[in-house]
Amino acid sequence: MRMEKQRKGVRLVLLPLPFEGHINPMLHLANILYSKGFSITIIHTTFNSPNPLNYPHFTFCPIQDGITTQSDDSSSLNLLHLIILLNIRCVTPFRDTLAKVISDARDNKEHVACLVSDGLFYFTQGVSNTFELPRIALREGGASSFVPFVLFPLLIERGYIPIQDSQLEETVTEIPPLKVKDLPLIDTKEPEKYYKELSNLVEGTKASCGVIWNSFEDLESSPLSYLRQEFQIPFFPIGPFHKYSFSHSPSSSSSSSSSLLTQDQSCISWLDRHKPNSVIYVSFGSLAAITAAKFLEIAWGLASSMHPFLWVIRKGMVIDDGKECLDPPFPAGFIDNLEGRGYIVKWAPQQEVLAHKAVGAFWTHCGWNSTLESICEGVPMICMPFFTDQKVNARYVSSVWKIGVQFEGEVKREEVVKMIRGLIEGNNKEGSQIRERVLDLKEKARVSWNHGGSSYTYLDALVNFILSFEP
Ligand code: UDP
Repeated sequence: MRMEKQRKGVRLVLLPLPFEGHINPMLHLANILYSKGFSITIIHTTFNSPNPLNYPHFTFCPIQDGITTQSDDSSSLNLLHLIILLNIRCVTPFRDTLAKVISDARDNKEHVACLVSDGLFYFTQGVSNTFELPRIALREGGASSFVPFVLFPLLIERGYIPIQDSQLEETVTEIPPLKVKDLPLIDTKEPEKYYKELSNLVEGTKASCGVIWNSFEDLESSPLSYLRQEFQIPFFPIGPFHKYSFSHSPSSSSSSSSSLLTQDQSCISWLDRHKPNSVIYVSFGSLAAITAAKFLEIAWGLASSMHPFLWVIRKGMVIDDGKECLDPPFPAGFIDNLEGRGYIVKWAPQQEVLAHKAVGAFWTHCGWNSTLESICEGVPMICMPFFTDQKVNARYVSSVWKIGVQFEGEVKREEVVKMIRGLIEGNNKEGSQIRERVLDLKEKARVSWNHGGSSYTYLDALVNFILSFEP
């Protein structure tokens, strides 16, 4: 597929939510739409701003949100608070900026066809209504985890939520095989606020004129078809975005160009020195945090497995007594005793790592992007979800697609060793079947982007849908 001729005068405005797992897919999507000939304006918050220099073919318009990385507002532990705050503080600057983008476009004989905004930026629905501008919602998460979001009022009514410890292992009969413990909750003292945000997300998405999903039919056909019936608006499952934009986009955006953190490339040459399928890659994404006690179990488990490992230990990832550990709390002499079997980075070029032949398994928190990236490279997963959709994704990985295994309780070093060996060493039947299934899904993901494949076809439909919006 080549880049299409610029569609003269049709501009799209995109607004990403300013977190790693949301900005990356939105910028990949921007590249896809650009490759279809649309001009692109990215309106973005100054908090976690993307780097415009990496995208000279887009127009960037910052809006002041008043959130600084120094303030408590930006703590990853306050994710819920941050999302609420962004939806309040961005209203006026976004409205003013959008008005200017529309009027500048008119002056340049262009037409702004629609707004594509993150589903969690639900305030944008009201703003786009005032401009009579169609809004398409981008849902970065999977459809499987959106189903429980939609069903939250029912799940509360039926007593699944708030979760009782005695019910954790019970199946939620309305949405099997999810168990009560898999429901997409977060640890918050203000659950009502969380429920309200979910309702805003669902209602805002329903009110949009269509939804773009970073997913593909073969992966999520059943939740997609349930949601289609519920929503009655067009759906465009055109993922996995990163695979499209790597192979077809004009600027060939790499993951490093959209990453908010600097990726340490040195791990690739370290991987080069290892045998195929021998390394376990460990990363818990951009937001999850672990206690020092859990950190130690993970560290000892990795060391005892005797397999080489590449571990992303992000700044602020380990919390001890409520405070961030400045350095990873390894026991004295731990690293030296590994004799080079472990490699630690603060942030990895994850897509390249997963594509590396040395990587044999991915120990992940099951963020949606990480899950998709692992599937696209055919890497089996060890799932350790933390909050929200990660719990649903993990259950799908382990029990629906059966392409990984999951910690069901506390992480203990002995179990870590068992899981790693089961997945990486070829003499385990379950491990081999998991590997076969993930390679099969990898192929399905690839085919979805081929001519006539589902994502390819939905992208054409999306382009026609956008072009149907009259000036
Ligand atoms: N990522 C990365 N380097 C790392 C860890 C993660 O580039 O060391 C990227 C990863 O490729 C993915 C994103 O960060 O695109 C994380 O998104 P995800 O939805 O998996 O999790 P979140 O960070 O939102 O919890």
